Amino acid sequence: MSGLRPEQRARGGAWGVLVGDAIGAPWEFGPPNTAPRPTPAAGFLAHQQPSGTWTDDGAATLALADSIQSVGWSLEDQGARLLRWWKDGAYTAHGTCFDIGGTTRTALESIQQGSPAAEAGPRGDSTQANGALMRILPVLLCGIDLDDSELVRRGIEATQVTHGHPRVAVASAIYLLYARVLLDGGEAGEARELSVQRLNHVLRMQPDLLELIPSCLQVKRALGGAYVADSLVSAFTAVETTSSFRDCVEVAISYGNDTDTTAAIAGGLAGVRYGVEAIPSEWFDSLTAHRGFAEASRIINGI
Ligand SMILES: [Mg+2]
Repeated sequence: MSGLRPEQRARGGAWGVLVGDAIGAPWEFGPPNTAPRPTPAAGFLAHQQPSGTWTDDGAATLALADSIQSVGWSLEDQGARLLRWWKDGAYTAHGTCFDIGGTTRTALESIQQGSPAAEAGPRGDSTQANGALMRILPVLLCGIDLDDSELVRRGIEATQVTHGHPRVAVASAIYLLYARVLLDGGEAGEARELSVQRLNHVLRMQPDLLELIPSCLQVKRALGGAYVADSLVSAFTAVETTSSFRDCVEVAISYGNDTDTTAAIAGGLAGVRYGVEAIPSEWFDSLTAHRGFAEASRIINGI
């Protein structure tokens, strides 16, 4: 899509996360290819919430965007806002946090007990899920003038507030550079290769991270799973095999399993690729009835 202004793409990315999350959520935990054609009227089969409700993916994305816009770059502030989401329902659709991943919960408990945010994310092998990848896009959307090195540095740091495993951080970095290719008007077909090339350059002096890049992309089939490499490859595949926002989100949901997060991660990229106006109006409108919509709009309009 040529002719889009950067802010159309950036706001499209943020709304794309929220809309993909809300439209994908009813089908969470389902097997592949069993969901009927997604529609807001499906409501929340998985969580018993009203239709158009965004979940942890959307709320944590709003928390990060609000932090960057409010105070600049502060991991302590990012952690504090995530804690407010979990404990007080900040950034949610209805004022309540009704779902949170296990690794994120462990990290936020550490922050609550006084751990520095930069060291809060667990690092064990079982903590390599998509809970940081799903919220990381505002690092780019609120920093489109950052050079690649700073974008990657911030992406890694923001990831570590909840997920300390280095592979999760590298996945975030690939995703941000991929989104940057799309933000700059590049083709989805070249974004995977270009983002890897650019990350190889940025991390050339950090072999411990550099060596993890291939493992983030070695998943052969899009399965919509919660493992960070599954999520990343599923989202990229949904973007690369479709040519509209709607088709991208529907394909992401069709993979089954962690449908809300796959659709959120893919929807963010599709929003950047096609711009905010390309989001189907009936999907977008399903979000507007919720009391958190005004706050979401304030944050995203500030991008
Ligand atoms: Mg979710």
